[in-house]
Amino acid sequence: MGLTGGCMCGTVRYELKSDPFDCGWCHCRTCQLTSGAPAMVFASVPEGDLAWTSGASSVKSVASSSFGHRTFCGECGTPFLMQVDHQPETIDFSVATLDDPGAIAPMFHIFWASRVPWFDPGDDLPRHDRFRPDTRGLEGTEPPE
Ligand SMILES: [Zn+2]
Ligand SMILES: [Zn+2]
Repeated sequence: MGLTGGCMCGTVRYELKSDPFDCGWCHCRTCQLTSGAPAMVFASVPEGDLAWTSGASSVKSVASSSFGHRTFCGECGTPFLMQVDHQPETIDFSVATLDDPGAIAPMFHIFWASRVPWFDPGDDLPRHDRFRPDTRGLEGTEPPE
């Protein structure tokens, strides 16, 4: 069985059908606002490999930028997913929502330029001011923040 997770109130539950990859911190303003925290950790799975196992009708989504949207529990607000137009084949999920958030560890930081100054992650992972240079789907052109 794959990794499982859910929201704070327990209404929404999910299961991953494959092992997540590209796990990293994001320090962008949208992550700060959606989480109420200085940064979020996301990892990716192929579109369709995250299955809602309960509460699917409570899952809501909102456009969060010109190129993406966010998915969250409509009952308690826990943020789950980020999906961006330049990577339609994958979804990014919030690693903190896993039942075992330690099951996968971040390997990089993105949007380091908008890091909250008092937040020091205390690691030596690669830091990128915005997207990683090899971000799938961007090929040298970056959408606006
Ligand atoms: Zn909830
Ligand atoms: Zn972000």
